[in-house]
Amino acid sequence: MLKKKNLIFLGPPGAGKGTLSEPLMAAEKLAHISTGDILRAEIAAGTELGKSAKAIMDKGQLVPDQIVADMVAARIRQDDCADGFILDGFPRTVAQAELLAESSAKCGRSIDAVVLFNVPREILIQRLTARLICRQCKASFNKIFAKPAVEGVCDHCGGELYQRSDDSLETAQNRLKVYDEQTSPLIDYYTKKGILFPIDASLPKDQGYAALVGVLNA
Ligand SMILES: [Zn+2]
Repeated sequence: MLKKKNLIFLGPPGAGKGTLSEPLMAAEKLAHISTGDILRAEIAAGTELGKSAKAIMDKGQLVPDQIVADMVAARIRQDDCADGFILDGFPRTVAQAELLAESSAKCGRSIDAVVLFNVPREILIQRLTARLICRQCKASFNKIFAKPAVEGVCDHCGGELYQRSDDSLETAQNRLKVYDEQTSPLIDYYTKKGILFPIDASLPKDQGYAALVGVLNA
């Protein structure tokens, strides 16, 4: 078992948090917790929290931090989190982090480590804008990791490859700006608590994974 097992993965979009979560979950029986999944589950189960969240979302508003933090607290008390968990995409702000610290301490499952996924900005931009889609068969390619055999042409049907507007440079820059403004203050917050562990997430997957496991067993 890992020495540090109750985890937060912190990093900008494109940093590869999902890529390294998967093998770690499989090897260490960690639960993967994303707030999107929890919200959907609470709403589907018709819990009090789910009902409050749905009423707010139906009005087109953001679910308040307190409700999200309560949902996360309820989630980490579940049995499948006994061997540890990875929080991915939460907390996003210092206010959420403070609520999480309170609720996770109450249930005896405090955060052991916050892994910071460090990737140079130009690599993030490359990754976020690398997806290509086939106009005809909708197959997806990646300019870096899964290049088509012929540039701009689908391997499967010969159709033309294009970039979705979600994957444009402007969208990528906006997503990174939101991260810088809202989420990067968490780096200071967790550094002061002494539980921030940076890894070089620009490395190839196997080296990145080795670095991650090294940090969690230190
Ligand atoms: Zn195609």
